[in-house]
Amino acid sequence: MKLKFIRWAAVCLVIAATTHVAAQQKYDLLFGRNRISAVRDIAIANGKVAAVAANIDPADALKVVDASGYYVTPGLVDVHVHAYAGTGERGSYAGDNSLYPDGFTLRAGITTVVDAGSSGWRTFGDFKDRIIDRSRTRILAFLNIVGQGMRGDKFEQNLADMESRPTAEMALRHKGLIVGIKTAHYAGPEWAPVERAVEAGTQANLPVMVDFGANRPERPMSELVTKKLRPGDIYTHAYSGLRNELDDSGHVNPGMWEGRKRGVIFDVGHGGGSFAWRIAVPAMKQGFLPDSISTDLHIGSMNSGMKDMLNVMDKFLAMGMSLDDVVLRSTWNPAREIRHEDVGHLSVGAPADIAVLRLENGNFGFVDMYGARLRGTQKLTCELTLRDGKVVYDLNGMTRPDWNTLPPGYRQTGDARWDAVTPAPVRQPRQ
Ligand SMILES: [Zn+2]
Repeated sequence: MKLKFIRWAAVCLVIAATTHVAAQQKYDLLFGRNRISAVRDIAIANGKVAAVAANIDPADALKVVDASGYYVTPGLVDVHVHAYAGTGERGSYAGDNSLYPDGFTLRAGITTVVDAGSSGWRTFGDFKDRIIDRSRTRILAFLNIVGQGMRGDKFEQNLADMESRPTAEMALRHKGLIVGIKTAHYAGPEWAPVERAVEAGTQANLPVMVDFGANRPERPMSELVTKKLRPGDIYTHAYSGLRNELDDSGHVNPGMWEGRKRGVIFDVGHGGGSFAWRIAVPAMKQGFLPDSISTDLHIGSMNSGMKDMLNVMDKFLAMGMSLDDVVLRSTWNPAREIRHEDVGHLSVGAPADIAVLRLENGNFGFVDMYGARLRGTQKLTCELTLRDGKVVYDLNGMTRPDWNTLPPGYRQTGDARWDAVTPAPVRQPRQ
């Protein structure tokens, strides 16, 4: 019964969504029966995956969900977002450039995000209090090597505020929450930001994620990934083309192949200015696939080419990657990168963070950082998202009863054991 790891399962239910009122149900929620050999029923109890099997008796469940024809995947894990909103600071990723995550994550099937260095050791406490502790999305963080975090050039170009020791100490104080160290946007010729980030990562035993900033001949990207980074460290913005990811002849930089062989991780980090078809298409053709797909969500990417996680995943489908590979790179791979192997899969005992996705066929267009379009024929839409076993997003009401089947004067229809969407307390109608 216990499966080590299920990446995704296509569920074709024939059971109508009903609430069983047996005296004792083993499960709060059940994704039911299916006909495809590789797929399973998934049962949830107390916020965790309780059973994964070919046939689970619907009578054992409080609630059965009809997910016919959809893909049931682990909640998506986006390792590159900017979520330090609400400080009021203009032009800053520790302010107006960041987004409150819940409006962008749950509706795209994302249940875990990692803020990529919007805060540093001096500001992490505020970020945690302001955003992490108040969000429904599971928010983790790469801590910026800059003590003040991503507050603009005045701070991010200041080598004096890039200290490995306090950064590592803060990371160790929040183990499991701070999952890595970030260096980003540096424009100078020095290696110091990378070296100090790696130093902090070594002290705290965490990976480093690098946005390599300005392209400088004094510190070429090939040297970064073949010499400076350790196995497990992450090079983000891999398809930007801004740092010689493709050489002049259109070939993937040999350093990237060598870096990959050494165990350096390559992440998409799409963003507003870090994903170009003229880089991604040849790189994919040459077999240089990303280890993880991520959005680099911020105000500059949310409405431009990036849009959302599913749109970025669609781009890889459009370039010929299989759905299985796309989902793997949006769930289990990123979970391993940040050493959170508790999420990104649907094994028994895992938190029941689940996305139910629909794959549409049609004519679609996908736009890159320069506004160039690539046409595609497949598009993922998120139908339902569960966080810790509770419905947090339900596009077409697949877990809900039809209104005209309910008693006259009906009020709240959910049950706190599976429903976190309609949390309003049930009030008795006035007499
Ligand atoms: Zn970023």
